Amino acid sequence: MKNKVIRISDEFTGEGEKLLHCPRCDGSYTHQGEVNVFERGEDADDGTHVRVLDNDVKIDRNLTDNPSRRRHGLTIAFDCESCEGGFLLDIYQHKGNTFISARLSEE
Ligand SMILES: [Zn+2]
Repeated sequence: MKNKVIRISDEFTGEGEKLLHCPRCDGSYTHQGEVNVFERGEDADDGTHVRVLDNDVKIDRNLTDNPSRRRHGLTIAFDCESCEGGFLLDIYQHKGNTFISARLSEE
């Protein structure tokens, strides 16, 4: 699955925020869903995985879906009100840098 460029509005709101846009249709009415947090030491084979969904929390040691190959990662799932598609926003560390990217959800 190839990452897509995410668009965040060029203009700040009055509160100093920016809107996240859908990578499929550029719509800005998005809804947050499942959240997955991955934590591990550098290059460690396992670590902590916390999944938050539907008013429930699950914790395990499975880092299979960690967007970072070497360190910590965070993935937030979104649904788009405009195109009814889904996408995943990843925030992850790699070699001392932090990246933000988006992937389209499985169809
Ligand atoms: Zn959309």
